Amino acid sequence: MGLISSWLESLDYDYKILPHCSLYQSPRSSCTKCIDKCPENAIEIKDAEPLIDTTKCTQCGNCVAICPVQAVEGFLPKRSIVNKQFIMDSQSVPTIKELLIYYKKGITTLVCDKQELSLSWKNTIEDTNNILGELGEQPFEINNRQELLEDGHVMTRRELFFSWEKDLKKIAKKMTPAKWRFNHESLDLSKYYLDYQFVDISIDTTKCTLCTACEILCEKDVLQIGEKGFSISAQHCSNCSLCQDICPENAITLKQVISRATLVNHQIYSQTCSECHEPFSTLNESQNICVGCKKKKDLLSIK
Ligand code: SF4
Ligand code: SF4
Repeated sequence: MGLISSWLESLDYDYKILPHCSLYQSPRSSCTKCIDKCPENAIEIKDAEPLIDTTKCTQCGNCVAICPVQAVEGFLPKRSIVNKQFIMDSQSVPTIKELLIYYKKGITTLVCDKQELSLSWKNTIEDTNNILGELGEQPFEINNRQELLEDGHVMTRRELFFSWEKDLKKIAKKMTPAKWRFNHESLDLSKYYLDYQFVDISIDTTKCTLCTACEILCEKDVLQIGEKGFSISAQHCSNCSLCQDICPENAITLKQVISRATLVNHQIYSQTCSECHEPFSTLNESQNICVGCKKKKDLLSIK
């Protein structure tokens, strides 16, 4: 979008953490991704809530790009895309997630702006290409800047004005502040790789008490507890770790593994408690005591 997008991006406003941030959802959330990524140390936790110090924030956008649940409102970091090629000239290295999304948007070439790439860039490219391999895709092609300049198409004034006109029409259509600042959907990796899941979620069926805390807090509806089963659809998972952090029984384990999207269903059994003789539900077929009676028993055995 060129000049118009630069103008939009130059408008000033504060970056904001939205209420669906995992830390707002539960103080037990261990997510510190934006805090770790901020080069200015502008994000801190006060009274169990994350806050952006606007006197320190330089609006680099790193927090927007790194948040697994897209809970930071602001602009994405500025990236240079020329002729569908990503120029590796930005101060900050993009996240692997960003590169994977750019790839799906048809930007499959990275152009080296400098003589020598930083170690951080090299590691990001290597890790991204490894993931693309696991997703059955070709790796990013790497070109150097000189080739881009030689092959690059120089726009005539007529083409330039035509392109601005198109940009203006597109912007006018979408011009509500929340939308052009940040489109939450555009950063959701699961929408671009529908056949794959990036996380393996396992439930320890001997520990889970079917309390439903994970189901209630999961923003992505990955975990569904019904009458007959506990189903897990990891394809939508953002790997925010909230379910693992808040499970009171430590029954959930997340692993970053790429595999084909699979719907897993754990059967729920209806039993009668051997102590109180009340019916109860469990994932563990051999369990014959309800949660309440088991907790009472455990407490008595400690005393
Ligand atoms: S299932 Fe995935 S998206 Fe849902 S809370 Fe757990 S880690 Fe977050
Ligand atoms: S996995 Fe944990 S949080 Fe989810 S229902 Fe079972 S006990 Fe509750």
